[in-house]
Amino acid sequence: MSFFKQINLNEIKDNKSQKLSGEYEKVKCLIIGSGPAGYTAAIYAARANLKPVLIQGMEAGGQLTTTTEVENFPGYPEGVTGPVMMEDFKAQAERFGTDIRWGEVTSVDFSKRPYKIVVDNSEQIEAEVVIIATGATAKYLGLESEQKFRGGGVSACATCDGFFYKDKDVAVVGGGDTAAEEAVYLAGLCKKVYLIVRKNCMRASKAMIKKVERTKNIELLYEHNTKEVTGTNVVTGVTLIKRKGETNEQEVKIKIDGFFLAIGHKPNSDIFKKYIDVDEVGYIKTIKGSAKTNIPGVFACGDVQDPVYRQAITAAASGCMAALDSEKFFAEQ
Ligand code: NDP
Repeated sequence: MSFFKQINLNEIKDNKSQKLSGEYEKVKCLIIGSGPAGYTAAIYAARANLKPVLIQGMEAGGQLTTTTEVENFPGYPEGVTGPVMMEDFKAQAERFGTDIRWGEVTSVDFSKRPYKIVVDNSEQIEAEVVIIATGATAKYLGLESEQKFRGGGVSACATCDGFFYKDKDVAVVGGGDTAAEEAVYLAGLCKKVYLIVRKNCMRASKAMIKKVERTKNIELLYEHNTKEVTGTNVVTGVTLIKRKGETNEQEVKIKIDGFFLAIGHKPNSDIFKKYIDVDEVGYIKTIKGSAKTNIPGVFACGDVQDPVYRQAITAAASGCMAALDSEKFFAEQ
């Protein structure tokens, strides 16, 4: 590394530490997250003159930027790609004056108002109101082949992508309620659905298991683990290991066109848990019929507080609720 570069890096380091020990930037309404919930909250908050600042987070645009076609969001009769739709959301939020910034919120202090937020371990913000819209991350198996076909044959959302596999054969991985629900949903569209369960039983509720068992075009594959998703340009099959690690372990190959993950989601709530009430999985608890959390002036919307619906449209709706609740909060102060 050259001397010149070293000096510059040191300057950057100094600037950052100066900012940490220096003044806090005062913000009226801070929105954390840039999926449908965050941007919708921003559109409403900006139009209500709450002067929102939106911190985009690591995955600017949220989970939709990893999907291909979105056909179920009203207002796009011809469908739209996830990234283009999120650019539209962003442009609309900017049109009303939202200050949209790169960066990731690295810590918060919600012990008293105004709330303190640190971005990228350096920028310090004091916000009167905070809207959390950090989303959730679908869990993947961690296979290289799964990453290769992500967004093109491999999906973590049957409701979003199932339609592309109409009259085709697909597989769903998982043994919980989501896997059961998604398998039943896909069975209504597809020719055949393989449900790949790693144990010899499902964790899903009895009612859901019954539904799965009663659905003729679902084939349950208990004690099967996924080894590899196969194909050249598109998914054409999956290689499974039956009774992995046992003496009668066996390799099984099935032909499929789509591979769906339903092994759970992780809500992105870790940095808030010290202050904000979450359920056993980590989803932020909101007061029914509102976006209010247990901390006055801190609201939550989108997938970080929704273990059930997890759709772009429901996330957007809850973003609207969070902004309206924020507006009401200021009015009541
Ligand atoms: P869960 O955590 O309940 O289930 C995850 C499933 O994925 C488990 O069967 C687990 O297997 C399996 N799994 C995890 N990792 C792997 C892996 N590496 N390879 C193969 N399989 C794996 O998640 P869900 O999303 O299903 O549900 C989350 C919560 O939401 C639950 O409380 C559920 O009841 C609820 N829910 C409710 C619904 C409703 O009421 N309509 C609908 C959907 C969800 P194993 O069992 O072996 O650990």
